[in-house]
Amino acid sequence: MRWSLRLAKFDFIVQHKPGTKIGHVDALSRHVGAVMEDGPPSRERFLEEQGKDSYCSTLRPGNYTSKADYFFDDDGVVYKRQINHKHQLVVSASLIQDVIRANHTPMYVAHLGIRRTFELISLNYWWPVMRKSIEDYVRKCDPCQRRKEAREYTAPLGNVEEPTAPFQVTSMDITGPYLMTPRKNKYLLTFICHFSKFVEAYPIPDQSAETCARIYSSQIITRHGTGSTLITDQGRSFVSSFLKKRVKYWEFGR
Ligand SMILES: [Zn+2]
Repeated sequence: MRWSLRLAKFDFIVQHKPGTKIGHVDALSRHVGAVMEDGPPSRERFLEEQGKDSYCSTLRPGNYTSKADYFFDDDGVVYKRQINHKHQLVVSASLIQDVIRANHTPMYVAHLGIRRTFELISLNYWWPVMRKSIEDYVRKCDPCQRRKEAREYTAPLGNVEEPTAPFQVTSMDITGPYLMTPRKNKYLLTFICHFSKFVEAYPIPDQSAETCARIYSSQIITRHGTGSTLITDQGRSFVSSFLKKRVKYWEFGR
């Protein structure tokens, strides 16, 4: 369920905290890298797996200048020939999941839908019935499912104000679980400013309202102010607990 929440304006005292005392901010931003997904397989990996793949062995690649539908590049990697030289690397069955994952889950593509994930992958890769494998992957993708469920209960967004300043309207989102980092973080808490589209991301150990409230109070409110609207698709009980904890953290500090 997605719903927007108007937060009452608070009277509060801003305390300056010298940068030297908030070294953890650096540590946190470094950790964001640790939860990001791996990139696509290397060319060596593609080459090796093509050599073992039963479908690839049925192709009859020519050389680059031939008219064959498939061709070997200088390293022996098989490509499907396309017009305008937009040739696609032929992906062995063993690497299909890796290629889809690398083009669907990283933060910078952020779980695009089936069509756009397909388009993105088609820029570089090809395999038989690729559309179907991408469809299956995205349909089973957990963050995509949760986002879809959230959308089905979408309240009209008309009641969300147009922001006129940074962090006036902020979305809060939790993604994961990812592989646990050495500091036992498994989720990523992100805040997106609707005005500037500026994103802040924090690795967190759990999805509790308390954890989110602690980060929101110590990181967002302290640097960007309370704003007026926070949008989240977390449930009603999360939000009420979040509000209580947020006030607690705000009043007593960390
Ligand atoms: Zn997804």
